Amino acid sequence: MAVVGAGFTGLSAALELARAGRSVLVLDAGAPGEGASTRNGGMIGSGHRVGLARLTRRYGRQTALMLLKEGLAAQDFAMEFIEREKIACDLARTGRFRGAWRAAHYEAMGRETDELRQAIGLEADMVPRAEQHREIASDAYHGGVVYHRHGGLHPGLFHKGLMERALAAGGTVAGSTPVTAIARGAGGIQVQTARGRIAARDVVVATNGYTGPLTPGLRRRLIPVPSYMIATEPLPPGTVERLIPGGRMIVESRSRHCYYRQSPDKTRILFGGRASLTTIDPRAGAGILHRLMTGVFPELSEVKVTHAWRGFVAFSRDYLPHLGPRDGLHYALGYNGSGVAMAPYLGHKIALQVLGRPEGRSPFDATAFPAIPFYTGRPWFLPPMELAYRWRDRREGSR
Ligand SMILES: Cc1cc2nc3c(=O)[nH]c(=O)nc-3n(C[C@H](O)[C@H](O)[C@H](O)COP(=O)(O)OP(=O)(O)OC[C@H]3O[C@@H](n4cnc5c(N)ncnc54)[C@H](O)[C@@H]3O)c2cc1C
Repeated sequence: MAVVGAGFTGLSAALELARAGRSVLVLDAGAPGEGASTRNGGMIGSGHRVGLARLTRRYGRQTALMLLKEGLAAQDFAMEFIEREKIACDLARTGRFRGAWRAAHYEAMGRETDELRQAIGLEADMVPRAEQHREIASDAYHGGVVYHRHGGLHPGLFHKGLMERALAAGGTVAGSTPVTAIARGAGGIQVQTARGRIAARDVVVATNGYTGPLTPGLRRRLIPVPSYMIATEPLPPGTVERLIPGGRMIVESRSRHCYYRQSPDKTRILFGGRASLTTIDPRAGAGILHRLMTGVFPELSEVKVTHAWRGFVAFSRDYLPHLGPRDGLHYALGYNGSGVAMAPYLGHKIALQVLGRPEGRSPFDATAFPAIPFYTGRPWFLPPMELAYRWRDRREGSR
């Protein structure tokens, strides 16, 4: 059994398969975790971005509700898994505050929250602008909504814990081993790597934002988009608790999609967002993110950025994650920037599918995985989209 990609998806699949008695080899082109899984904001949410109205238009109300409930299941799975496995990764059930960039966004959030409370039992409460200082020391938003069951973790420690569990279960993880070709034959699947060839009965592809020419059928269904983050220098004691008094994860409704939080050790602010749709130097990304951070917290204008980095996430045409069999392989990917819960969840699900277990089924099986027209894997349209977004950002007052 071979797994391509040693991030949350691949390791979660490997753990399940190894515990079921399968011999598992996880192969990664770089150091295990070097993809998005150790570079993210560590925010645990419900794992996909498509709202009830849009899902209902596409699939009908029953499937829409199942897809939304699957998001809640992913979030519960991730947190319960970490607690059950006793993975020390600063997991905190903090809840998440989503700030409304415009008054109209606040009204729309209120309507959707009411509907989701009724339809799927979403645990969320609106926070009017007059009360938002209990969530954040900023007037940047027109109020917002708190999602009570969301949380946060330290992604590097979660990845480490997951890898230790997969190894302890008997799995093997090989870094610096790019898979260069996969061929199906009578005796199983031949997996060619830069370090030699292996034969496998099954292969799980877990390459998400790093999906390349190895799997052209998946590549033309996913757009790799860079996501940028910064960490401030350590702030004076008590500052991060004052800026984000409840310690919640923070996101917002503006199209910049800024997301930020206290660092797990409560000394810094970690701030991410769409610095650019194209691949720019993380130092240039840091300048943009610093400006955006100062827009939210003007008092941080003189604070230095000590770390800046980026990683790649994978967007699908329908903004939903996908899993299943394709071309004789199994895959789980397409997390649209929200994979901290969904990636380990669907890694686990795809492993159960490989094992032929009915619990491996997911409502995401029922949604087609659409190809992207005029696209084979080089996202030529991102530079013009970036220009369009800049215009939109200026109208939104984000630049
Ligand atoms: C800056 C940033 C912030 C983020 N913040 C959040 C957040 O707060 N909350 C949230 O829910 N999500 C967040 N995400 C998204 C989340 O990190 C990802 O969805 C998740 O980590 C995906 O995990 P994965 O295992 O599927 O993929 P990855 O961790 O990206 O792993 C894929 C691996 O596949 C390997 N690979 C690719 N091709 C080959 C090949 N041919 N041979 C061998 N190996 C190969 C790569 O080397 C890579 O290691 C963020 C992402 C980034 C980049």
